[in-house]
Amino acid sequence: MIIKIDQSKCSGCKICMEICPVGAIEEMDGIRVNMTRCIKCRSCVVACPIKAIVIK
Ligand code: SF4
Ligand code: SF4
Repeated sequence: MIIKIDQSKCSGCKICMEICPVGAIEEMDGIRVNMTRCIKCRSCVVACPIKAIVIK
């Protein structure tokens, strides 16, 4: 399972970066999830106002 941000939807609001408990969301050529840090808590998926974060 991976947490992925749909770059075509993401507005760059950074709400997900603020809410992630382990700092796994980084800004690097768009907002991206660093899966080596992500603990798959799904907080960002719930928090994204436009549902740009998907679980695969
Ligand atoms: S699933 Fe949780 S740990 Fe992973 S990026 Fe989202 S908020 Fe951070
Ligand atoms: S909360 Fe959603 S729209 Fe905002 S930066 Fe994160 S992925 Fe993009």
